[in-house]
Amino acid sequence: LVSRKRKPEDTIVNINGEAIGSGEPTFVFGPCAVESYEQVAAVAASIQSKGLKMIRGGAYKPRTSPYDFQGLGLEGLKILKQISKEFGLAVVSEIVTPSHLDEALDHIDVIQIGARNMQNFELLKAAGATNKPVLLKRGLAATIDEFINAAEYIISKGNDQIILCERGIRTYEKATRNTLDISAVPILKQETHLPVFVDVTHSTGRRDLLLPCAKAAIAIGADGVMAEVHPDPAVALSDAQQQMSIPQFDEFYETLQKFMKSYEIH
Ligand code: PEP
Ligand code: MN
Repeated sequence: LVSRKRKPEDTIVNINGEAIGSGEPTFVFGPCAVESYEQVAAVAASIQSKGLKMIRGGAYKPRTSPYDFQGLGLEGLKILKQISKEFGLAVVSEIVTPSHLDEALDHIDVIQIGARNMQNFELLKAAGATNKPVLLKRGLAATIDEFINAAEYIISKGNDQIILCERGIRTYEKATRNTLDISAVPILKQETHLPVFVDVTHSTGRRDLLLPCAKAAIAIGADGVMAEVHPDPAVALSDAQQQMSIPQFDEFYETLQKFMKSYEIH
């Protein structure tokens, strides 16, 4: 059902007045993890001032070590809901198990399914049975075909509001956290009718590569870019290496806008 052969026209995912997949790139910024109301509010104010419509932030953090910060859970979702109301932003947040889904639906606007859960088939089916948009990340070591099949699990339950997100794959290369598979973007757009995002934060793991990779994503036809922003990245409870500070975010976004104008993108 996700195949372009079955449905030649692009699927548009409508979120908070933005038509994702309609040709104009959209953006999802926000902290890696929800740490406090004040922390998320500082980022939300900056996002809102740019006229953007979405914010991200993890309440359930799938960390490599069980001793690392695991997220605020439901308390984090409550903070996000409050932020959403106050700043008029749609909230994108990762859900890691079907058992959290019901409660989460009440707090968030977009269900993120993370790389580590791309083949959590029960979660995919459960998200497919909701009427919320789903942002599906590519697995750490998933082929494009496996990624497309994961999206198929969601759509097979009736939900076609799916955004695919390339977030880098594991290779032998150590210069970056993962290897951004930029060619996955046009392949996914050829093979499926779904919008495709690029997460420049988790793919590169390097702040100095966020801008060039975002430019590459837009130039190659991505429908949107995701990147992490934190009011004080040095003290962030997760992903301190790669989140942008708010001044860095301002510069990143301004440069990207200029780049898009110069190439007459949008
Ligand atoms: C995230 O976006 O918060 C995240 C954990 O990313 P990924 O699932 O791509 O590693
Ligand atoms: Mn992160």
